[in-house]
Amino acid sequence: MHAVLSIGSNMDDRYALLNTVIEEFKDEIVAQSSIYSTPPWGIEDQDEFLNAVLVVEVEGTPLELLRRGQKLEEAAERVRVRKWGPRTLDVDIVQIIDNGEEILSEDPELTLPHPWAWQRAFVLIPWLEAEPDAVLHGTTIAEHVDNLDPTDIEGVTKI
Ligand code: ATP
Ligand code: CA
Ligand code: CA
Repeated sequence: MHAVLSIGSNMDDRYALLNTVIEEFKDEIVAQSSIYSTPPWGIEDQDEFLNAVLVVEVEGTPLELLRRGQKLEEAAERVRVRKWGPRTLDVDIVQIIDNGEEILSEDPELTLPHPWAWQRAFVLIPWLEAEPDAVLHGTTIAEHVDNLDPTDIEGVTKI
């Protein structure tokens, strides 16, 4: 199973927290973006995020992959205070392709592809770097990036 993960942190040691995900998937990562500094999305009065995209080839089911991400969030002692609020670690599954077929799911526990990915600069820009030929909703990632607001694009800076 080919999966695109979007990882983010805006609390505590953000690099170390992102590294826990890289460490967990180290033998399964097939492509990886740089780390980007990005302004908060949804709720703006919080610290800057670090975000990255990992492309992994994993065994198991989509829900098992979701659980692996959630375990890392728990290990980071993530506390869900408010939706889109500050968090030590967020691991989202953006897209899964299994045997060449994209998995589509409207299950609220695991919605695929991730419903907001197409309009989030902090997902699309790292994803484009990691996987330049990827396609989301029938449109290339490069085209999705072109459709973003220029100020959203400027906010996402490689570090
Ligand atoms: P957003 O999903 O808009 O990025 P968020 O990451 O802040 O917001 P969370 O509180 O981390 O939201 O997750 C809420 C729930 O979303 C999780 O319990 C999880 O089951 C569910 N979920 C649905 N689809 C996905 C997905 N593609 N990847 C990760 N979690 C998902
Ligand atoms: Ca998220
Ligand atoms: Ca999440």
